[in-house]
Amino acid sequence: MAQDLLTVVVAAYNEAEALPALHPRLSAVLEGLRDDGVDGRVLYVDDGSSDGTWAVLQRIAAGDPRVSLLRLSRNFGKEAALTAGLDRVVDGAALILDADAQDPPELIPRFVAKWREGYDDVHGTRIARDGEGLLKRGTAHLFYRLIGRLSKTPIPQDTGDFRLLSPRALAALRQLRERHRFMKGLFGWVGFEQVAIPYQRERRIAGSSKFNFWKLWNFALEGITSFTTAPLRLATYLGVATALLAFVYALWIVLKALLWGDPVAGWPTMMSAILFLGGVQLVALGLIGEYLGRLYLESKQRPLYLVDAWQPATGVSSQQS
Ligand code: UDP
Ligand code: MG
Repeated sequence: MAQDLLTVVVAAYNEAEALPALHPRLSAVLEGLRDDGVDGRVLYVDDGSSDGTWAVLQRIAAGDPRVSLLRLSRNFGKEAALTAGLDRVVDGAALILDADAQDPPELIPRFVAKWREGYDDVHGTRIARDGEGLLKRGTAHLFYRLIGRLSKTPIPQDTGDFRLLSPRALAALRQLRERHRFMKGLFGWVGFEQVAIPYQRERRIAGSSKFNFWKLWNFALEGITSFTTAPLRLATYLGVATALLAFVYALWIVLKALLWGDPVAGWPTMMSAILFLGGVQLVALGLIGEYLGRLYLESKQRPLYLVDAWQPATGVSSQQS
């Protein structure tokens, strides 16, 4: 029987508590898929965890011949960890899953079915988020709307990284080597046939979220600055509008002086004009700096991640019958 190869890529950072609960569920799902002719494998990427994650992963790998392990030299962040994982998937399709089972592994067969219908990018869209506060849901909502407006690349709303990529989508993604990896945007940029699967985002099975408000804020900035130069355009418009206003006001001052003389007042107006212009200029400078900084980091061409250990699956070939 012809086998479709599918590798589930899981980035894990300090997930020693969640992984032992996740793996049996994942393993059961892959077992079920085998009857459908899908050769399922798992690749765990330890993103420089400081707890017992690596030891837990080794135990899991020792008991399951389908499991490969990759360990990064330090914590590079989820996007880099996923890139590292996807780089190692040389054959077949890849599916990205969170280690905390917030994206339920039981949905994988639905993703596979869509892939077999011919879709290249099957992504889960959250219709509900369990166990996430109003603030997180609200800001996430706002962020997706904002970036949807600003970015020319279509970025599906409320879509995380729970996603299956066909071999050709994966190959395309591998060509994008930018340092600032806003994955949601990169997937959108790749294109091909996309389809969304609505699902309920569940509660974390164990441990706590690795993203605090500050990290998410920076993540949002990252997304906006890597996918659109709209803020730069905004600075231009702001400049033009300010100049126009200033011009009209200057005309009025001159006219006033000609008509009624100049009694040398207007210190308050002068101060507010100077402060206002100073503020606008600093903001615009900051914006330019933001993009320039990114350009600088990009130009160093450093690798996106460094590998500490690679442990391929032991029994992949013996699995195929
Ligand atoms: N993660 C990672 N590196 C990091 C932070 C997170 O690999 O630096 C992984 C984490 O182990 C989990 C996934 O990314 O599998 C999502 O993280 P988390 O559940 O903390 O984010 P949330 O679901 O709260 O957005
Ligand atoms: Mg999570």
